[in-house]
Amino acid sequence: MSGAQSPAVPALRRAHIDHAALAANLRHVLDTVRPAAVMAVVKADAYGHGAVEVARTAVAAGAEWLGVADVDEALALRDAGIEAPVLAWLHGPDPDFAEAVARDVTLGISTAGQLARAVAAGAPEAPARVHLKVDTGLGRNGLGREEWRTVFEAAAAAEAAGRIRVEGLFSHLSGASPDDDLAQLAAFEEATSLARSLGLDPGLRHLASTAGALSLPATRLDLVRLGIGLYGHSPFDDRTAAELGLVPAMRLESRLISVKHVAAGTGVSYGYTHHVERDSWLGLVPLGYADGIPRHVSNTGSVWVGGRVHPIVGRVAMDQFVVELGEHEARVGDRVVLFGDPSAPEAAPERYPGADDWARAASTITWEIVTRLGRRVERVHS
Ligand SMILES: *Cc1c(COP(=O)(O)O)cnc(C)c1O
Repeated sequence: MSGAQSPAVPALRRAHIDHAALAANLRHVLDTVRPAAVMAVVKADAYGHGAVEVARTAVAAGAEWLGVADVDEALALRDAGIEAPVLAWLHGPDPDFAEAVARDVTLGISTAGQLARAVAAGAPEAPARVHLKVDTGLGRNGLGREEWRTVFEAAAAAEAAGRIRVEGLFSHLSGASPDDDLAQLAAFEEATSLARSLGLDPGLRHLASTAGALSLPATRLDLVRLGIGLYGHSPFDDRTAAELGLVPAMRLESRLISVKHVAAGTGVSYGYTHHVERDSWLGLVPLGYADGIPRHVSNTGSVWVGGRVHPIVGRVAMDQFVVELGEHEARVGDRVVLFGDPSAPEAAPERYPGADDWARAASTITWEIVTRLGRRVERVHS
């Protein structure tokens, strides 16, 4: 794996992606869900980790499928020479699927209109490969129950004419509660029976993302769509990644670019939302909301500097934020870990904050913390 700099030389802003962790997470989930297969979800640039790099590692570790939101993301994988099956499930209002079909991208179909476009793009020598998506209760993407029959009939007719091949049927869980998810599973079984009664044979049935795959074995079916777990994070509020046997794959690092000693009472950053209580060292970190640092971690988040965790004080700005170091006299150039693997032994005596700690500090979810990192953050793969 290559990066602009060796991992030994900290960059201004760098996300280090640990491919051994990605592979271990993939294998761990695969071992847990077998005989179900795993689709590695690499949409949104693999949640900020780098889609092409993550896809290669996931396939090598045993992912049979790759999943993305839109066709352009799938074609970027094909451009990189990745040949594994790819499913793309989110489309514009009047999609042209010709290139997707030509390059063997499987289409997730959520509307009658999308099905018509897939049929138009397919031909007997190269039928469009589709997975029909049914809404079983999430209230989001997918065929509404009242359209199941007509769309299944149209799909069966198009399949008989050789224009498409219906290889899969899928849906997505709300995670509202185990009972809600099991009700969706029951609705999914109804959709399956209806599809089969109309002549379809969707060999690959999939419903679960990370949360369902790890907590509701009945939802694993033929394939689980693994997103956040691949990146080493827990989808649950009450269980950590370590408890699930997952290793966070991203470590976001920087260096202090300014250090100064200030007197008690000094106001910090825009609006003086923080005043230091006693004479203290302050360090400046060159990441801000332009880099995906949530402004909501102002005065609530913390980072690791030289073995100790210190609070983010004052408002996060576009390009920078301030850390209160107290009596800890740091130096310009000292390494800062914003978040990483809290179990990493090299962080001692304290732990690296986790992306989940950041999510709590920003009142959001771990998915958003890693995915929102900006373009100025260099990704280094190893
Ligand atoms: C993003 C996404 C996933 C992955 O979800 P995680 O919670 O990150 O595992 C699975 N399926 C669909 C349809 C998605 O949009």
